[in-house]
Amino acid sequence: MTTIMKGKEVAIALKEKIKAGVTELKEKGKVTTCGFIRVGDRSDSIGYENAAIKVLSSLGIECVQFHYPEDITEANFISELEKIGNDDSVDGFLLLRPLPAHIDDDLVGMKINPKKDIDGVSPYNIGEVFYPKEDSFIPCTAAAVIKMLEFYDLDLTGKNAVVLGRSNVIGKPVAMLLLAKNATVTVCHSRTQNLKEVCKNADVLVSAIGKAHFVTKEFVKEGAIVVDVGTNYDENGKVTGDVDFDEVSEIASYINPVPGGIGSITTSVLAEKCLIAARKKVK
Ligand code: NAP
Repeated sequence: MTTIMKGKEVAIALKEKIKAGVTELKEKGKVTTCGFIRVGDRSDSIGYENAAIKVLSSLGIECVQFHYPEDITEANFISELEKIGNDDSVDGFLLLRPLPAHIDDDLVGMKINPKKDIDGVSPYNIGEVFYPKEDSFIPCTAAAVIKMLEFYDLDLTGKNAVVLGRSNVIGKPVAMLLLAKNATVTVCHSRTQNLKEVCKNADVLVSAIGKAHFVTKEFVKEGAIVVDVGTNYDENGKVTGDVDFDEVSEIASYINPVPGGIGSITTSVLAEKCLIAARKKVK
C-alpha cells in the first residue's frame, strides 16, 4: 500500500510548535521579526514572498519588507544588506533569489550576517549541512525534505538514497542531510550516465531537477520512498512536480504530491528558523 506524504500535515504539526514558541517569546517582551529582502519585481519572488508572509504572520511573526529597484548597484545593495544585518529589530531574513545578473551571488553570500541568514545563503551556514543540528540555518527547502521524512518516521539507515539534482540550494544540501541520516547517497545531474538504472536502485529517491513528469515508473524501484521537490508550471500556470505521480504512486511505498508536498513545509521551516534566531537573541 502506498502512503501519500502530505506536506500540509507536516506543516500543521510544525506550526503548532512555532506558534507556541513565538507566543512564549512575546510574553517575555520579544517580538519575533523576519525581514524579506527583494531586488526587482519578479513575479515568482513576489508570489513566494507573499505566501511566506501570510504563513509567518499567522504564527505571530512580524514581517518587514525591504524592496530595492532592479537597477540598484551592487555596492548599494551590499551596503543595504549590511545595514539589515546590523539592525537589531530584525531577527532573521529571507533573501529572495535569483538576484539580478549584475549582483554577484557569491559576494552577497559573503556579506550576509550569518546569524540572521535563516535560509542558509552564507558560506558559514551552507557549511552547517556537514554538521546539521536543529538550530542550524541550512537551506529551508532541503531541511523541509528531512522534516517530511522524519514526520513519517522513515528510518534511512543503510538505505540507498539517490538525489536527482546538484544545486547548492537543494540537491547538494539534501545529499549531505541524507548522509547524516546514515543513508548511502548518490547524487545525479544532467551528465549522469545510466540515470534510469541508478535511480532504479534507490530505496529513497529525491527529485529536484525542475522537469515536469520526468521521473516515470522506469526510474523507480518497487516499494521506494519518493520525494518530489520539483515545482514546475505548465502553460496554464498549473503546478506539477518532477515525478509522474499517477504512475509512480502505483509502485512507491511513500510519495508526496505536488502541489501539497515540500513547498507546503518550506515556509514553516523558515518560520521555525526565524524563531530560533529570535530565541538566540533572548538567551
Ligand atoms: P537548478 O538550480 O536548476 O538545478 C537543477 C539540477 O537538476 C541541476 O543540478 C541539473 O544538473 C539537474 N538536472 C536538470 N536536468 C536534468 C536531467 N535531465 N537529468 C538529470 N539531472 C538534471 O534547480 P533548483 O533550484 O535546485 O530547483 C530544483 C527544483 O526544485 C525546481 O523545480 C524548483 O522550482 C524546485 N524548488 C522547490 C522548492 C520548494 O519549496 N518546494 C524550493 C525551491 C525550488 P546540472 O547541475 O548538471 O545542470
